[in-house]
Amino acid sequence: MAKNHHHSPAQRICGHVGMHVFHYTGRKGQAEENRYAANSLCPECAGVIRVWFEQSEPGFYKVDLPKLVSRSPNLISWGNRVRIAQLRKLGPVMKRMASESESDPLAALTLQVLTMMFKIDSASFWVDVDKHTYGTYTLGWDLEALIRGRETPTNPLGKASVFGYWVARNERVANDAIEAAALLKPILKEYRRGLVAAEVAAST
Ligand SMILES: [Zn+2]
Repeated sequence: MAKNHHHSPAQRICGHVGMHVFHYTGRKGQAEENRYAANSLCPECAGVIRVWFEQSEPGFYKVDLPKLVSRSPNLISWGNRVRIAQLRKLGPVMKRMASESESDPLAALTLQVLTMMFKIDSASFWVDVDKHTYGTYTLGWDLEALIRGRETPTNPLGKASVFGYWVARNERVANDAIEAAALLKPILKEYRRGLVAAEVAAST
């Protein structure tokens, strides 16, 4: 079967139309590629998250950390080490998200995922974060699943997924997050990042 390869615009989960590199074989492959594109963030939103995630500005964000639980004391101390390292890395990101969340729905959603992350008291989750790393892609997948309200076969969540953790462990926490995200979804759809930046520049 002939391989198809093309760049085409597609409606994405964030509500924006964004280019996607379609790469598939056959009709079934095409349908899967379409579903993948529809369930993932547009390149602009994904790029903004990458910039936020990799920022190195110092900052502190206060979170109340629950006591980690596990049958194994070794896992608890391992989990604690990972969690502290993550808080050092993500605290500054959360601080920035908190200051931008009023005006930027993507920042509000990102803060929501990271806040849910630090509510996790399972030592083995934090060990998974260490083993599989929680990076900008993992965060993107969590955001996509949160906006969508569920996991979907074409866009599986990684082993260290925050959304996946709560869906499996506590439906109420997951559903509250999905409801809050549902309110932000239409705002994100209308949000024009470039335009907002231009307006800020014009008004100063
Ligand atoms: Zn987008």
